[in-house]
Amino acid sequence: MKKDTPFEWDESCRRAFQNIKGYLMKPPMLMAPAPGKPLLLYIASQEKSLGTLLARNDDQGKERELYYLIRTMVGAELKYSPIEKTWEEETNLVSVYVIEEEDWRQQFLDYLEHKKLPEELKARAYVRRVAPQFYLFNNTLYRRSYDGILLRCVSKEEGQVILAEAHGGIYGAHQAGPKLHLQVKQLGYYWPTMLRDAMELARHCTTCQLHANYIHQPPIPLHPTMASWPFGARGMDIIGPITPKSSANHQYILAATDYFSKWAEATAYKEVKAATVVDFIRTQIVYRYGVPRYIMTDNGTLFLNKTMDNFCEKFGIQQRTSTAYNPAANGLAEGFNKMLCKILKKTVVGNKKDWHERLGEALWAYRITFCTPT
Ligand SMILES: [Zn+2]
Repeated sequence: MKKDTPFEWDESCRRAFQNIKGYLMKPPMLMAPAPGKPLLLYIASQEKSLGTLLARNDDQGKERELYYLIRTMVGAELKYSPIEKTWEEETNLVSVYVIEEEDWRQQFLDYLEHKKLPEELKARAYVRRVAPQFYLFNNTLYRRSYDGILLRCVSKEEGQVILAEAHGGIYGAHQAGPKLHLQVKQLGYYWPTMLRDAMELARHCTTCQLHANYIHQPPIPLHPTMASWPFGARGMDIIGPITPKSSANHQYILAATDYFSKWAEATAYKEVKAATVVDFIRTQIVYRYGVPRYIMTDNGTLFLNKTMDNFCEKFGIQQRTSTAYNPAANGLAEGFNKMLCKILKKTVVGNKKDWHERLGEALWAYRITFCTPT
């Protein structure tokens, strides 16, 4: 390009740039052979050289490379006819064998069923030492966990499916690795590398990377709220207005969290008035869990009004508000809101307008999330 030529970014430039970007994002990588999948062999023979490519189709049906072989012909080989060259190549091709990894459960099954121990000394000692933790029932291997519950032993492949479902499936809360590991254990599964696999899966989840938290705040001491029994005190909050509105025109979520059990209820609304709040407390809390002793709210006018006062007086509920001096008092409800929004964000990825339908899923995910006391 000459010095004074005005530069114009046109369609062809854009396409070229996209191509370069596309290529950089997908560097050619060799794949591993998969057991049971057919291999494809390509051979090209030229005047002075030979080339071979071993490939297989991946899960999307796209062809992926496994192995290359290129050879320059020397001496008498140069006189071969193309067919002979091809033959030469085929006889020289490295044979690729897929050595199938043995299922980790096999050695314990062998020992528990037939008292058969592995050949290798180290493996022998290992099986002898660890086998008492395992238990065979109806041809299924179980492992005794520390709290005495039998965990079903699954293969590594089955484990991957379980992890994917628990992390990002219909009730998945996209939890971090260690929590995911605990949840899968709570669901009753075991395989030796479950913690490592869980960390790996959570780290590589695209949705998690898109919605990861950035912590910009310095750590501050927590203000725990004491609750003495389940369903005694509820923290309430309104989330919204949420943009975009859902396809059913919902814009707000009313949420109530129990201080003791952390059990949460949430409902989506088109608009929230004092009557809506009262209705929510009556149908979602009182009719389901009984009359709470306290309801903690922030200072919003929707919580502090005549309708609400009348309702609370009728049921004998005490209203407590978090004042400007102690904004942390309603921290639990806000903590739940944050968590719920996070889960919603991750479950509503494709279609942002269907969030009101995903609310139930998000609540389910939140309720079965493995909670550690803070
Ligand atoms: Zn995730």
